[in-house]
Amino acid sequence: MRNAGLFLAAATLVAMAAGVVWASGLAGSGDSDSAATTPAVLSGSSPPPVSGAAAATPTHPAPTPAGTPVTVPFELPIFMYHHVSPSFPADQLTANLTVLTSDFEDQLAYLKCAGYTGITMKQLFDHISGGAALPAHPVILTFDDGYDDAYTGAFPLLQQYGFAGSFAIVTGFIEAGGPFLTWAQMTTMAGAGMEMMSHSVSHPDLGTSDDATVRDQIAASRAALEQHLGGKIEFLVYPSGEPFRSNTVQRQQEVVQMLKAAGYRGALLAGPNSLTQDPATPFALNRVRVSGGEGLATYAGSIGGPPPSSPHC
Ligand SMILES: [Zn+2]
Repeated sequence: MRNAGLFLAAATLVAMAAGVVWASGLAGSGDSDSAATTPAVLSGSSPPPVSGAAAATPTHPAPTPAGTPVTVPFELPIFMYHHVSPSFPADQLTANLTVLTSDFEDQLAYLKCAGYTGITMKQLFDHISGGAALPAHPVILTFDDGYDDAYTGAFPLLQQYGFAGSFAIVTGFIEAGGPFLTWAQMTTMAGAGMEMMSHSVSHPDLGTSDDATVRDQIAASRAALEQHLGGKIEFLVYPSGEPFRSNTVQRQQEVVQMLKAAGYRGALLAGPNSLTQDPATPFALNRVRVSGGEGLATYAGSIGGPPPSSPHC
């Protein structure tokens, strides 16, 4: 059963308007990141049919039409995954980064029947800058570190359920071999509509690295991806979320300036489990971590979605 009453719409908007404090230090906004803002709901069309008493009054604003730049904060879930694997590995550190393949399939089935549509970062940024409208209830699925199970575990299910995926690649790991994607696998994935992003060359802390290292990490990773895959690489996922977790606002701004100079359009944080995206800070977009092992109701709740009435709706 669909229950759009708890969807991304009015109820969440009211909650956010009540005073959410943005957690991340946001480049370009100085210390103003602690100010509460009112996010709009980003949707390309009307929400799914509403049923039941929990239906909220449709007070959310009209969808932003194509051709109109988006300037106010809005809600759009960007999930952060790592491993998608048939079983938990013995290594506890890796296990903590693993979502079981069966759970991942349940999550995709839930998203699909709840009316969500997977989009890429490029679609999001094109829309923000006044490009094409987005589909109803957009969601972005990201996968960090470029493990080989991105190809064997995540990719087939993304295709089966019709979702895009955005994969953050550590190019030095690829070159070194090991349990990571190959260039051939990434070429296949990109050809099937999957999006590749930079996750640096060697996964350093970009906050504590010197400027020359930062410039090299973000330029060389982008160049390697573009050389092997063709097309433009325009987005970066901060390794371990730095400099936005434990570095100063000044350092955050410096790194963002280097990313802009290197030709990037935007970047993703490692958290902090917020759905809100601010077009004024495209280099500090929020993500929602999927840790693995959480139930489907918890997963749905993490994005304010309707409660799943069954594993497959
Ligand atoms: Zn990483």
